[in-house]
Amino acid sequence: MAHRENRRGSRIWLLSVACAAASFTSACRRACPLTEKASRTPAETRLAEGGRALCNVVVAPNSSVRVRADAGELADYLGRISGASFEVVEGDGTSGIAVGVHTDFPALATGVAFDGGAPFLRDHYALRSHANGVWLLGASEQAVTHAVWDFLHRLGYRLFFPTDTWEVVPATSDLRLAVDAQEKPDYVTRQAPRGAPWSNDALWSRWRTRNRVESAFSLSTGHAYDGIIRDCREEFDRHPEYRALVGGERRGSKFCISNPGLRKLVVDYSARVMKDDPQRESFSADPSDGGGWCECKPCAEMGSVSDRAVTLANEVAEAINRLGLGPKYVGIYAYNQHSPAPAVRVHSNVVVSVATSFIRGGQSVEQLVEGWAARGAVLGVREYHDVFTWSHDMPRRARGGDIDYLTRTIPYFYAHGARFMNSENSDSWGANGLGYWLSPILLWDVSAAQRVDAYVEDFLDKAFGAAKAPMRDFYTLLNRDRSVRTPVDVTGRMYRALETARTLTNDPKVGARLDDLVLYTRYTELYNTYQAASGGTRQAAFEALWRHTYRMRDRMMVHTAAVCLRERFRDQSVTLPKEAAWEVPEPQNPWKSSAPFTRQELAALVSGGIADNPVAVLDFEPVAFSSALVPAAALNLPEVAPGTFSLRGRNMRRFLVWLDKPGSVELQVTGGLIRGYRDRGNVKVSLFSPLEATLEPVAYDESVPPDGETRAVTLRSPYAGLHTLQVSDGGDMTELALPKGLPVTVLSSLETPPGPALTGRWTLYFYVPRATKVVGGFTHDRLGTLRDGEGKVALDFSTLKQAGYFSVPVPAGQDGALWKIENASGHKLLMTVPPCLARSGKELLLPREVVESDRR
Ligand SMILES: [Zn+2]
Repeated sequence: MAHRENRRGSRIWLLSVACAAASFTSACRRACPLTEKASRTPAETRLAEGGRALCNVVVAPNSSVRVRADAGELADYLGRISGASFEVVEGDGTSGIAVGVHTDFPALATGVAFDGGAPFLRDHYALRSHANGVWLLGASEQAVTHAVWDFLHRLGYRLFFPTDTWEVVPATSDLRLAVDAQEKPDYVTRQAPRGAPWSNDALWSRWRTRNRVESAFSLSTGHAYDGIIRDCREEFDRHPEYRALVGGERRGSKFCISNPGLRKLVVDYSARVMKDDPQRESFSADPSDGGGWCECKPCAEMGSVSDRAVTLANEVAEAINRLGLGPKYVGIYAYNQHSPAPAVRVHSNVVVSVATSFIRGGQSVEQLVEGWAARGAVLGVREYHDVFTWSHDMPRRARGGDIDYLTRTIPYFYAHGARFMNSENSDSWGANGLGYWLSPILLWDVSAAQRVDAYVEDFLDKAFGAAKAPMRDFYTLLNRDRSVRTPVDVTGRMYRALETARTLTNDPKVGARLDDLVLYTRYTELYNTYQAASGGTRQAAFEALWRHTYRMRDRMMVHTAAVCLRERFRDQSVTLPKEAAWEVPEPQNPWKSSAPFTRQELAALVSGGIADNPVAVLDFEPVAFSSALVPAAALNLPEVAPGTFSLRGRNMRRFLVWLDKPGSVELQVTGGLIRGYRDRGNVKVSLFSPLEATLEPVAYDESVPPDGETRAVTLRSPYAGLHTLQVSDGGDMTELALPKGLPVTVLSSLETPPGPALTGRWTLYFYVPRATKVVGGFTHDRLGTLRDGEGKVALDFSTLKQAGYFSVPVPAGQDGALWKIENASGHKLLMTVPPCLARSGKELLLPREVVESDRR
């Protein structure tokens, strides 16, 4: 795209101006000392000295209200930073801090090529210091706003999170800056994060503005068919055949797109909308949500659902670009039934936002992105950086707080053509604040992903000062560490980091930030208690969580409305009494209190939290094993009563199998065991071999439809030895029957948890190598029994105080033996023995080095 040219940072302005003769009577009363230097080095501009302003903020006499407001805010913040008083005056921009749209100052020979008319280039701005001041010039008013906040950012200003608590205003009586930068965003829209509908709009808006999230271009891309039907009610009443044919009837909010009359109606409607509002730049032609696509023959002949949606979007794009109103865009999602890429080309003014969840057709996000890009689409990404119903605002759960995910995906999508980002988020600044702050930085400049550590350090330095070290631990735990930890362990570590941080600072601003995080940590503690509670204690735990979340709501650490509107938890086991309903205001509502948290309360939360949330201390040394697995047969393990696990499951399941020689695996596969999910396509069965250099499956079958019928599937491999059998059904349920005698093993380690391969109750064996002193691991629940080689109970999981790490000593003579986990559910991740579970010693696959050293 054109806007990739002249990347920021390239010093493309040859500074030919020498300011030796600069007038001391100009708005900048002191010439900069660096003017004799080589012309490519930007001049340093002195803005304030000893609490005295050396420049005015300058706007053009004809500048807009918005630009004047931005200039006023700049003057205000320069004053707050320096202690000096800055004035906003009118001028031609040749001296002082000139703030404006590039056309505001015709006297300036900037040499910068602004193209304010190009829709995707309107966020372009330039900052340049010179002998008599600085230019803050934008291609549009929005770009001027970016320039102002970038300028302040370069002077040390930050608004990390939305509330005043997280604002950092540096104090410098001598204010100076050398800058020569042109900035153009990599992503045209950067709505990540963007705030949920019920958030504090004003605070979100301020945060978005100051972190360059807002864009001068806005893309319409929401579900649109319903609205078109509503606006064209009469036409649709006259022409029922314009609607989709579903089950023999013309109904619903999908169109019969093969009907030329319908297409003309939509095209005419879009043209009318654009003509009514010539400033409008885009029109959404995204289908209505849900299914109900037309079943008529001509529609089927058009191709896939995506082909039909794109055909209509293409015609709209064609039409609205013929109106002579400048370039106009059409937005659609690649989502749900229109996720897969179409066979038809996509018009170059159709922007397709690929959803990263709710994908149909069994493809990965990467496949979708590449498929749509190959059809010529301008891409957007419809992200889900945090959805409350998935994360409940707990730490380490949402993508938006996962720095590895953000630094991987944002540049990846960009490299594949994505230029628009639209993400769902919540007010989860406690869990994801650091990721939320980093996201617009990465979206503006994807190369920032390579410097993410420096940004994290900037955050820690400025937000926490002397308390930086423990806060680095805190944010590493929340946003970078992905090891398996118990909820109590995470909460315990958060409290401990905060306690240390509190001893290291007397700065009240830092203290207020730590207080926010103490209250958030308390939220995680109350949530853990609530989640673990059952029976009579659950209601009380819910009430405690509700009250705390409400009382800390002004901190924006947690999505209060989502928590306190009970239905968002979808928890039928608790009730919200009528008098405590969300709508009932304080003070009538007995659950609502806005009393400030006192120093004593906060201190008690920390000390109590540390006492009640012990961190996991491993009393065993984890042992690493190779992934080169071979049959355990050589160990001559005893015959045992076979274990069991369910071969009925959903989503992506992986099993390790062994073929003595190249040949086939014969399976029985029954797909579509959840009737309502039978639209998710055929079951995909793949066989992988580590010997296959291409990493592609050696055999693949997609012949089994989701219809509840059992079918035979044969997978042939040209290799002998270890294979991975992978079954994927898009969330519908599938049952497998494996051939008798085929060694089948499920991996169960921290790095390779079994995932959906183990569901329901199971009983499986594992091997304890010779000389092993401790069997240690991690359990997600307190169900099941661990038995040693003689069948004696080594650990009854129900006797554990909580889910988490466990360890038991290996009794004399019980090493070199087959142990059993009986009647378990969930995951038991093995950390000191090979993480291999099987129904018997015969089916068990073990790391080669273990079999070789333990062979008798
Ligand atoms: Zn049709």
